[in-house]
Amino acid sequence: MLAALLTGCPPGETPLRHVEQVQPRPLTPAAWPSWAAPELLAALAATGIDAPWPHQVEAAEHAWAGDSVVIATGTASGKSLAYQLPMLSAVLAESRSRALYLSPTKALAADQHRALSALGLPGLRAATLDGDTPFEERDWIRQHANVVLSNPDLLHRTLLPQHQRYSGFLRRLRFVVIDECHHYRGLFGSHVSLVLRRLRRLCAAYGAAPVFVLASATSATPGQSASRLVGLPVRTVDSDRSPRGPRTFALWEPPLAVRGSSQDAEQPAPIRRAAGSEAARLLADLVIAGARTLVFTRSRRGAELTALSAKNHLVEAGAAELADRVAAYRGGYLAQERRALERSLTSGELLGVATTNALELGIDITGLDAVVLAGYPGTLASLWQQAGRAGRRGQDALVVFVARDDPLDTYLVNNPAAIFARPVEASVTDPANPHVLGPQLCCAAAELALTPADVELFGGPAAEPVLAALVERGLLRRRPAGWFWTDRNRPSANLRGAGQPVTVVESASGSLLGTVDAGTAPATVHPAAVYLHQGSSFVVEELDLEHGAALVRPEEPPWTTCAQEITDIAILATEQSAMLDGVSVQFGTVEVSHQVVSYQRRRFSGELLDETPLDMPLQRLVTKAVWYTLDEACVAEAGLDQPGLPGALHAAEHAAIGLLPLFASCDRWDIGGVSTAQHADTGRPTVFVYDGHPGGAGFAARGHAVLPDWLAATRAAIAGCECLTGCPSCIQSPKCGNGNHPLDKAGALLVLDAVLSRVITR
Ligand SMILES: [Zn+2]
Ligand SMILES: [Zn+2]
Repeated sequence: MLAALLTGCPPGETPLRHVEQVQPRPLTPAAWPSWAAPELLAALAATGIDAPWPHQVEAAEHAWAGDSVVIATGTASGKSLAYQLPMLSAVLAESRSRALYLSPTKALAADQHRALSALGLPGLRAATLDGDTPFEERDWIRQHANVVLSNPDLLHRTLLPQHQRYSGFLRRLRFVVIDECHHYRGLFGSHVSLVLRRLRRLCAAYGAAPVFVLASATSATPGQSASRLVGLPVRTVDSDRSPRGPRTFALWEPPLAVRGSSQDAEQPAPIRRAAGSEAARLLADLVIAGARTLVFTRSRRGAELTALSAKNHLVEAGAAELADRVAAYRGGYLAQERRALERSLTSGELLGVATTNALELGIDITGLDAVVLAGYPGTLASLWQQAGRAGRRGQDALVVFVARDDPLDTYLVNNPAAIFARPVEASVTDPANPHVLGPQLCCAAAELALTPADVELFGGPAAEPVLAALVERGLLRRRPAGWFWTDRNRPSANLRGAGQPVTVVESASGSLLGTVDAGTAPATVHPAAVYLHQGSSFVVEELDLEHGAALVRPEEPPWTTCAQEITDIAILATEQSAMLDGVSVQFGTVEVSHQVVSYQRRRFSGELLDETPLDMPLQRLVTKAVWYTLDEACVAEAGLDQPGLPGALHAAEHAAIGLLPLFASCDRWDIGGVSTAQHADTGRPTVFVYDGHPGGAGFAARGHAVLPDWLAATRAAIAGCECLTGCPSCIQSPKCGNGNHPLDKAGALLVLDAVLSRVITR
């Protein structure tokens, strides 16, 4: 199949960077645990499951023995059976037992509900409890449901604050299942980890100590991440023993093309052919070969363009009759739509479907012949989840990862070990962030007064100064028995961000599209900004920061906008510091002040159209950062000259921000950077990378912990890009507040070599 694809390449192009043969794994059935409910085993047998796989039994046994456990294995490795076994056996054996299933999306909870109902177990009373559940149904659920499917938002807003009403449920709670737990990361994950501690505390107050069973995608440290999330020791099961067919995994880098005549004064920079067009060509070739193929794109528009372009290729290739069997999946997330898509792909009615990453969760399509990933989906977990759609038992399947022009994509296609060896990406959270802990402690105190013994649960020493500050501000009252919430109103805590978010509203219909962080609103939804929402394009008409609203209209202009800003960073406290022969590496608290001063409009080719001034307020952010400095001797020894230094540091900073998501499961938009040839606090050339959320979200801390590996990958991404002076695949950043100027590719390598030669020999 690969040979067929390569013959389709235009002459002179060699986009194939690597081919990995993923070996098949034979079937190794295990025995059902002796405690498994017989009626459950009968129901499973009726659906065709006669025996479990070893990793499912291993995880289930831990849970049944009372140990919390995380199962971190690939897509289609049957993680649900691992938690269903103990959860359902418990409620079937003792119908008064209760279990709680939490998922990051409503769609996934609905799927799980359907799967449980399909088992047809008479003793099982499963019910979905989310924001849409009618109140009359909630009464029934509280009293009768023995498996409740819900989400952390509902726990936070409803179940925990009304715990007296749910006391019967909490008292009998035996298992808490946290599905797709790698989604709880960064600021949101930090909030969720404290919501789970609130849940554990209330259960304890009612005399219950539920066992947690977590399901995760594969990651660097699943046990550590899970343990931090629930605040308990967690056992790890991560050896995937599910059978699978052989798989061929190709890494593909579209060729560089020099950008057309450039009107602005900048040097013309080469860009790569778009991953979407490349994927469309691959899709057409695969459909001609009769392969059932799914293409994942980064946006809904990208999915439509890819499907359209593949249809055109098919017509050109004289296979017009196949064009109707290619479609873009642009529907919402309604269950019927997803089921219809599953059916047409399974039946072969559709041969090729292009879809956004959003389809990744809650759709049951596996066993395809080929999967094409147009651009890195953001995390290795997602990459494997998408790749896992390909492969029927015993038959060879093909996965092609097509790189976008992004430093992380460049790095991955040129460094296959980052994909195929042990993962280095970890889901990080920071439950000790005072901006998260403060509001969560208020919520906990409002539910039930906090006792000194509770402080340990909420972070121990980290919680003490936060509690003292809450008392000082009059939010909590300290009495001999503990800390009390005395206000008549409930405390408010937003799980998805500190402060009042800015709501994005479509002006004509008044419908709410989403929210953006108040701190980043001037840069992302300033007047005339092009705003993308789930792959659709909008233009901002008005930004009202005072009332926290941005009005937008649907429009797809042929340009992008990029806010330009002035950024300053001051070191407030250095918490960790290492000096290594002229290079220092540090971690601590910083204050970032930034002000958006204008925006640029650029064509998709990158060409600058114009720049318009903006009047936006100065924003301040106190957060965590990792930074390194070089002294004068080190700069001279590296062969860097003073005039070139700012561009070298700036380029090294951009690429490092692009690569951090490989190690910490964040988005490059969750982090920011500042580089300067002479920083006021360090007195030296300095590169900072900071968390974009007040108080930090764990990303900079992870960067500090893995700095040698992170910077080595950064260096490899820059060196691996064959452009001469820098391009979006290596050192240019789509979010640069300085118009990607100055940037020095060769200088960045010298800076990184100087730092790496010291940190690696340590
Ligand atoms: Zn490049
Ligand atoms: Zn920049």
